[in-house]
Amino acid sequence: MVELKNVNVHYSSGVDALQDINLRINDGEFVFIVGGSGAGKSTLVKLMTREITPTSGRVFVNGYNLAKVKGNKIAKFRRSIGMVFQDFRLIQELNVYENVAFVLRIADQSSRFIKQRVTDVLNRAHKARSKPKELSGGEQQRVAIARALANDPGLIIADEPTGNIDPQLSYEIVELLKDINRSAGTTIIMVTHEHDLVKHFGGRIINIQDGAITFDDNIGGSDEDE
Ligand code: ADP
Repeated sequence: MVELKNVNVHYSSGVDALQDINLRINDGEFVFIVGGSGAGKSTLVKLMTREITPTSGRVFVNGYNLAKVKGNKIAKFRRSIGMVFQDFRLIQELNVYENVAFVLRIADQSSRFIKQRVTDVLNRAHKARSKPKELSGGEQQRVAIARALANDPGLIIADEPTGNIDPQLSYEIVELLKDINRSAGTTIIMVTHEHDLVKHFGGRIINIQDGAITFDDNIGGSDEDE
């Protein structure tokens, strides 16, 4: 569960990036967060991952009160979230298999567990021995999503995951996230500025504009009859 109560973020530059945000995302939801450049989307994501703390207000994620998550507790908290980024952030020197194994090693898992888990999350990925640069953008993002799943997080935050991917493949990436949401019950928050995608899939849409939530409701998707 993600909950923000009366949250304000004021940057020292003088910008009020978020103003009085109240938001609750329940376990198992799939939510799109949309808004133009400078609206406050990244600031919202950084609050949820505890990269920044609010100027005022409270943030709760996965049962943690983030005001109380400090020091060495931050890494443990972060492992409860799977992150997916626009630029994939795969380690170029490591192959696909090793990229996913890496996050499990950091989490101190046994070699036996790692072997099984990497195989499970990579599923039918046939390019486990390839390096990231040998893969297309869509393929790299699939690996990044597998990596996000490795620690079996209750929540995945995907920050513009389709930003560097051909429009055609973007739909497949959202389908993959939807599948994970449906099959594993993982809560998924996807930040995007791509209105066509959002209209196609529908569901709960939260629109941010000038640091405030201007819309938060369910809409029907245009793919509903498919
Ligand atoms: P979005 O992700 O929707 O493009 P951001 O959350 O990045 O929006 O930015 C919201 C506002 O806060 C913008 O006006 C931006 O210029 C400002 N901002 C973002 N990060 C910082 C920062 N580290 N310091 C000062 N201002 C910032």
